[in-house]
Amino acid sequence: MTNKITDIKKLLKTIVLSNQKTMIIDGHRIKNKEKYSLFLRNGFKCKCCGNKAVFAAIEKDENCKNGFFHLVFYVRKGNRDVKLTIDHIIPKALKGENREENYQLLCEECNRHKGDKLIIF
Ligand SMILES: [Zn+2]
Repeated sequence: MTNKITDIKKLLKTIVLSNQKTMIIDGHRIKNKEKYSLFLRNGFKCKCCGNKAVFAAIEKDENCKNGFFHLVFYVRKGNRDVKLTIDHIIPKALKGENREENYQLLCEECNRHKGDKLIIF
């Protein structure tokens, strides 16, 4: 797999626009197509700190025993690589729903800071 983030974004765009439920990247089967369309629409950047993804990694899905993999995007903060995560704008603790309109991208550090609070960025 190319490690150029611009190439990966282009590749994802092609895959998301097609109707495949899973995709094969670098020999690994990757699922959760919907997740990647959210990343595409949000420009692969943290809504809070504004940092953009600088690379992607193929990682094993630990919650899933079916052998699927995830494409995980990382932003760079100082000398750290920080995972880009999907956050519930209205937290689940405040009865926020699992709906696309309630999702935003936050890096793991901003997400941890936000916690279960409702903060509009
Ligand atoms: Zn952030």
